[in-house]
Amino acid sequence: MKGRFSLSYINNNFLKLRSNYIFPEIIRRTKIHKEKNPKLKIINLGIGDVTQPLPLVVIDGMHKAVDEMYDMTTFRGYGPEEGYDFLKSAIANQDYNSRNIKFSLEEIFINDGINIDASSILEMFSRDNKIGILNPTYPVYENASVIYGYNGVQDENGYWSDIHYINCTEENGFVPEIPKEKLDIIYLCFPNNPTGVVISRDELKKWVDYAQQNDSIILYDAAYEAFVSSENVPRSIYEIENSKNVAIEFRSFSKNAGFTGIRCGFTVVPKELKGRTKENQSVCLQSVWQERQQRKTNGISYVTQRAAESVYTKEGQRQVANLVDSYMKNAIFIKNCMESLGFKVFGGVDAPYVWIKLKNRLSSWDFFDNLLFNIGIVGTPGIGFGHAGEGYFRLSAFCNHEDTKEAMTRIIHFLS
Ligand code: PLP
Repeated sequence: MKGRFSLSYINNNFLKLRSNYIFPEIIRRTKIHKEKNPKLKIINLGIGDVTQPLPLVVIDGMHKAVDEMYDMTTFRGYGPEEGYDFLKSAIANQDYNSRNIKFSLEEIFINDGINIDASSILEMFSRDNKIGILNPTYPVYENASVIYGYNGVQDENGYWSDIHYINCTEENGFVPEIPKEKLDIIYLCFPNNPTGVVISRDELKKWVDYAQQNDSIILYDAAYEAFVSSENVPRSIYEIENSKNVAIEFRSFSKNAGFTGIRCGFTVVPKELKGRTKENQSVCLQSVWQERQQRKTNGISYVTQRAAESVYTKEGQRQVANLVDSYMKNAIFIKNCMESLGFKVFGGVDAPYVWIKLKNRLSSWDFFDNLLFNIGIVGTPGIGFGHAGEGYFRLSAFCNHEDTKEAMTRIIHFLS
């Protein structure tokens, strides 16, 4: 049967994704440099992955759950598709109730991290909707819009004709301005990746008001909420009054508790949130998403959910806070070092990313090459997050402290 190929039609949208994804190119250039300089220690401040091991409390929670799986009386098979109540209760009580936000357990859906839901959530909607994404942006929202066919045609800068790009620029401090036109679905992400910028309660309220006035839905990615320490910065969109009928929120244990490899997060779909049919019939999106989960998933592993539950114990909260603090020390350190070199810097205060404005109109790939090929430091060119990221460079605080110090020493020496 050699040479025979399937004639099934594919979803062409997948082929459209390839052109602007820079991360394989970062890996390729880094690999080439490493091969040429095998003794050089390359330090990676480009990654959004965590580097510190899991908190002990999480390991203990997992061990206990593993032991339960070996006992006939406590063994678990398939769990509830939407997640176990023990974890959903911990989330409802500690993430929301403690801030006076009430959710029933049916409104919380446990998943294997934000990415899957931030993308598949679009399955609930019709392609007639106009999607808005921030520019620059974490790539998943644009990729999802393309995979599900919300995109149209691409121009020479990589922008899609049917996606509305909400520009975040130096002038607006990378906090997006309210669009003049009507958008149906808007992806917001705060604290932001890549810019590390946060949104104040007053600014976020403007978005909630906009969504109310335009019958829009906000898809709010709060992956980095645990890094917020400033008083006037919301950790959840639901801290804003009247947001339950306009917003879906995504949260994750990846960055606060080091679950990037374990995989666990959750999506909140409030019962107040409504969509409509073409016949103008109102539909509760919580029940649509519940239906979707029940038809498409068999849930997240029991051991993983017990691990996530342990984050909410008193000791878990203490250990997670220590982890977050240790990354934030790096963020502040990177920010201060780059500012001491005369760069204009965004982020790094309530977020583990530092967004650096490059000098002399240097392109972000040129700056990348300068750092990699001269001093063995890897960062992320801003262009990887969309055209508006050109001229900027992202450094991440997720490295260990010693390597971060070493990297910044090399950068200061090289650029002074
Ligand atoms: N959302 C944002 C803004 C991110 O930066 C990341 C990871 O870097 C994710 C979501 C992915 O989160 P998860 O590991 O929960 O899929």
